[in-house]
Amino acid sequence: MIKRTITIDDTPLQVEITYKAVKNINARLHGEVLRVSAPTGIAQRTLDHAIGDLARRLVRRVRARQVNSETDALALAQQVARRFSKPPEVQHVLFVTSQEARWGSYSPSTRTIRLNATLRLMPAWVLEAVVAHELAHVIYPDHSSNFWTLLRNVEPNTDRAEAFLSGVTWLANAWEDLPAVERSMLLRTRTTDASQP
Ligand SMILES: [Zn+2]
Repeated sequence: MIKRTITIDDTPLQVEITYKAVKNINARLHGEVLRVSAPTGIAQRTLDHAIGDLARRLVRRVRARQVNSETDALALAQQVARRFSKPPEVQHVLFVTSQEARWGSYSPSTRTIRLNATLRLMPAWVLEAVVAHELAHVIYPDHSSNFWTLLRNVEPNTDRAEAFLSGVTWLANAWEDLPAVERSMLLRTRTTDASQP
């Protein structure tokens, strides 16, 4: 067995690789230990790549489970749904760690709202506005002026939430390239209290 350490999403993992007469690479996560079985004779690069992918998927699945067990966003989402004249049905709210480019989505067929797990760390009114946004798409699938009129009507914090999320996205994308002084200044910025809408 070969042991080494990798870091996935800032989480250090102890990887234990066992070579076997198997066809596929398999991985199981036990706490911080990733047990991998790999086909004998597999190329090192192929294996490294596959381990990275599998580890990320498993770490994120664990995190998603934690996030969903800690919170009950369903009640909030159902309350938002009731503001619509024809309330969309919401039966499940899932925080997901797999969608990186989107804040949320709603599936009418499964009556499920999926939310980017990072929203859970933001003020509740931002999460609420994302829920309202996704539900408004049941009536208008586009971002037409009718869509925004409806959305602003059911969710007064719409424009504020849009601006908040643009700021978050900007900072997340700019962070790595910020000069040290400005970065440090931003860390010490205390202006308005974002938890109050
Ligand atoms: Zn949209």
